[in-house]
Amino acid sequence: MKDFSYLDKKYFIDRTVYNCPFCNRNNVPYEVTLSFSFDWTPSKKCDGFLAKCSYCKHKSMHLSFDEIFVYYGSGSYLKPEIDDIDAKIFYSVPTSFFILDNRVPTIIRELITEAEGCLKMNFLTGASACMRKAIYELLVAEKAEGIDYESRIKFLKRKYPDPDPSLFDILVHIQDMISDKIHEQSWDKWDSRYLKLIIETLKTVLHDIYVLPKMKADRSLVVQRLRQEVEESKKGKKEKNNGQTA
Ligand SMILES: [Zn+2]
Repeated sequence: MKDFSYLDKKYFIDRTVYNCPFCNRNNVPYEVTLSFSFDWTPSKKCDGFLAKCSYCKHKSMHLSFDEIFVYYGSGSYLKPEIDDIDAKIFYSVPTSFFILDNRVPTIIRELITEAEGCLKMNFLTGASACMRKAIYELLVAEKAEGIDYESRIKFLKRKYPDPDPSLFDILVHIQDMISDKIHEQSWDKWDSRYLKLIIETLKTVLHDIYVLPKMKADRSLVVQRLRQEVEESKKGKKEKNNGQTA
């Protein structure tokens, strides 16, 4: 069977359905209630729109530097040739917060979401700062011990043997994190490719340490419950039989 679960991680699936950030329903129809265009700078236009959830009726707002609307008379519609609406949007309110599993600590999810928003707008300094802070927050949340950054990441690597060890190696060698620079102001921004690598690495680590173990535990619980039910029904039958023979 094909796996389409990646669609649950998107904001907009297509021109008619999306994953609502308010009621958290997946694949729910939405309606564009307003579209607008304004000048971001004298030479740069920005398109925006409001999307209304057909289920909870809340509206979200989205901005794009591409011309994503076709205007006709008094109406407008999203260009049908756009097959990935998410890729065209650089800013959304609410942010696409739900794309990171809510079992990941909120503070870390917020920072990664902000870093991704900054990256889409090419604000590399902001994105770099958010990602540095996200990694520090992970070290704090996990009470990572060590005298410096490198030893604290290595502490995590020992604490969690399941994720691919090379992921932690990428985190260990992050530019500037291991240097002696004390003031954040003296840190350089990372380029967009490097930022993408850091973001994806951290997301994978977070998934492996916060989401996977809980999914496994939930499944075991389901099996345990089923087993219990089978045993109880066996016991019930036995008692019934004993009652009849008595
Ligand atoms: Zn909704």
